[in-house]
Amino acid sequence: MKILSADYVLPVSSELIENGAVAVEKDKIISIGKRDELIKKFPEANRDNFGEAVIMPGLVNAHSHLEITAMRGFLDDVEEDFYAWLIKLTKTRAEKLVDKDIETSAIFGALEGARAGVTCFGDIGRMGKAGLQALKKIGLRGIVFQETEFSPKNEEAESDFARLKDKILALKESETELVKIGVSPHAPYTVSRKLFEKITDYALAENIKITIHAAESNQEREFFLTGEGFFAEVYEKLNLKWNAPKVSVIEYLAEIGVLRAKPLLAHCVKVSERDIELIAETGSRIAHCPKSNAKFGHGIAPLEKFLDKKIRVGFGSDSVASNNTCDILEEARFATLFARNIKDKKRFLTAREIIETATLGGASALGLENEIGTLEANKQADLIVVALDNIAQMPVHNVYSALLFASNARDVRLTMVGGEEVYRDGQAKKASSKEITLKMKEIAGKCK
Ligand SMILES: [Zn+2]
Repeated sequence: MKILSADYVLPVSSELIENGAVAVEKDKIISIGKRDELIKKFPEANRDNFGEAVIMPGLVNAHSHLEITAMRGFLDDVEEDFYAWLIKLTKTRAEKLVDKDIETSAIFGALEGARAGVTCFGDIGRMGKAGLQALKKIGLRGIVFQETEFSPKNEEAESDFARLKDKILALKESETELVKIGVSPHAPYTVSRKLFEKITDYALAENIKITIHAAESNQEREFFLTGEGFFAEVYEKLNLKWNAPKVSVIEYLAEIGVLRAKPLLAHCVKVSERDIELIAETGSRIAHCPKSNAKFGHGIAPLEKFLDKKIRVGFGSDSVASNNTCDILEEARFATLFARNIKDKKRFLTAREIIETATLGGASALGLENEIGTLEANKQADLIVVALDNIAQMPVHNVYSALLFASNARDVRLTMVGGEEVYRDGQAKKASSKEITLKMKEIAGKCK
């Protein structure tokens, strides 16, 4: 058993504890409380005191694409044109990188996550194996969602689904206690209605989690409501037929039965009041990615409304090709600043509820709220230590505020998953940070 202590323990599920401690045995939290009391209760336990710092639940990144980490900054010159962005990404991945490179790219992304205090990822991969290997290698928890290929034709839904199912079944063989497999129909404009229906039925029958990119941009909204605009041009270029459903993306997903599976919907920037109602009523969840949305110029998702409707919301970095960092404290800060700056806001989001969103919110978005997301006895020991002694953070008058408005990945000292240290003071503990970095640099060179 070990006792981790610091000036503050922030359990999320209860009040902040000054001079607090967390007792951990094997993979679980045994007890939390005042440092002196825990030492008295467990005198034999090993002690680790972090001093001027806060111990809190691990951060959850509910939406990432670890496999394209090597493309950080690589697509910035074409991001004004989403089609060109996608083509450059797809071509580079197909023509210049081999499977092993994509795996290394994902491992580097997982390393970045561990360094930023992310203990759990909701990661989407065209090559699901890459994300799976990455989380395993660094020692993180997560759900790896195998993504569909471009599959917009109803006539091909049978074969599209058969291929997808084969991939999922193969990945499931490698599931561990920490890493589980989910499925991601990429987006309503790349997946046929029939394939969506098949995936939903399969996911419900097999109890597999689903995530979907949804309601991300005006172009997508226009395509669904009127059948015109950017995506209509893309469909025309590819000689594809499209009958606009003439409803919003969220209404469409409800209509074809996808929301029955309570999917995790990434983005939800372009949503109406009715859409938000539908998401709330069906128990669907949201991965809020404010920095990626802003970088593409897509707009601001109404976080305050999601939270007020009690929708399960977590933060996501999206890929670092569209962010360009995986830093959930920074993501949370952007989310708050954007939300507070909206003209018709009803209230001021508080630092405390945003820290809850970054931890328990993300866990709930991934359906893992019973295992992780708070510091409580019997929960998994997924926790982080964030230093509070940087010049840029001091003085600390309010811990929630210091975390949200003055801290970032720089300040994370320890990342622990299931009771095991995976990152401490600049170094990954289960793999060599140096080796991974060198390999990633080689791959980046191949992209050019
Ligand atoms: Zn995404």
